[in-house]
Amino acid sequence: MKPPVFSYHDPRTPAEVVDLLATLDNVKLLAGGQSLMPMLNMRFVLPDHLIDLNCVEGLSYIREIDGALEIGAMTRQRDIEFSDLVRRRCPLMREAITQVGHRQIRNRGTLGGSLCHLDPAAELVAVAAALDAKVTVLGKSGMREIDFAAFPVAYMTSALQPDELLTSVTFPCWAAGHGYAFIEFSRRHGDFAIVSAAALLEEDKSGEVTRASLTLGGMGPAPIRAHDVERALLGRAMTEKSVREICESLRKIDAIDDIHAPANYRQQLAAVLSRRALLKAHERIAAGAQK
Ligand SMILES: Cc1cc2nc3c(=O)[nH]c(=O)nc-3n(C[C@H](O)[C@H](O)[C@H](O)COP(=O)(O)OP(=O)(O)OC[C@H]3O[C@@H](n4cnc5c(N)ncnc54)[C@H](O)[C@@H]3O)c2cc1C
Repeated sequence: MKPPVFSYHDPRTPAEVVDLLATLDNVKLLAGGQSLMPMLNMRFVLPDHLIDLNCVEGLSYIREIDGALEIGAMTRQRDIEFSDLVRRRCPLMREAITQVGHRQIRNRGTLGGSLCHLDPAAELVAVAAALDAKVTVLGKSGMREIDFAAFPVAYMTSALQPDELLTSVTFPCWAAGHGYAFIEFSRRHGDFAIVSAAALLEEDKSGEVTRASLTLGGMGPAPIRAHDVERALLGRAMTEKSVREICESLRKIDAIDDIHAPANYRQQLAAVLSRRALLKAHERIAAGAQK
């Protein structure tokens, strides 16, 4: 199918984008097009105007500021994948991004597009939740920052106002030597995950967990932070038995039940993938300490 007829706009600055958003009705922003183009072709969306972000200056960069990575909205997923800074400071993101679709999709797909599309199983969405990211958006009334926890407001719907542009995302980095793992289950390589688990851990010298983050993707309309599991891990040394017991509670999550998988299958995946991700994160701390 071909997309519906729309007017095409090709601005060069974020301010021009915001001016267009403020004056036009029924607008869509085009980033990498990897989700939007199929939706246009299938006529799931019928915009009157399309604003192309691909020539807008200053939206594609990766930099470290005050112990956090700030990544521009138009940064391609493939550039994040190959960034040495990301690999060193945020290895969870690097591990997650290699599981996004196929390399052709990552060549065009952007960080901002993935977060705004907000698929419940998207890897970068889960990483943003796991790291307590902050999303920076620009609108006619200026810049504002949104905690990622408050960014998803409904199924595939973000807290962005129709006249706002996502400009960058800030991911706080964890301490050097932390443990991490991103594990997902999908039916075929490159498919969206049915369920994913993102784990981050810090441990003291005696091996007791001092900080933990566990996020599940694909279980609900937005990623779920398993705060009960995080709390249960703190102050104790991890063993396979203790992690197995703690992760059993994840079977109680009220999970999506759809054509891809029934709820009880997702609950099983949540318990198993979380255990594996936490144990892998723990093993990575131990392996790092032996170097
Ligand atoms: C075959 C296939 C497999 C895929 N598999 C996966 C997968 O396994 N995991 C995964 O996470 N993704 C997957 N994707 C989706 C891919 O990651 C997309 O790149 C991503 O969802 C959207 O990014 P994009 O830059 O292409 O955005 P676009 O498609 O251009 O835009 C997506 C939406 O975000 C809005 N938007 C984009 N940028 C901004 C901005 N800066 N401010 C405000 N709104 C904005 C657009 O208006 C649109 O509504 C797959 C895609 C395909 C085609």
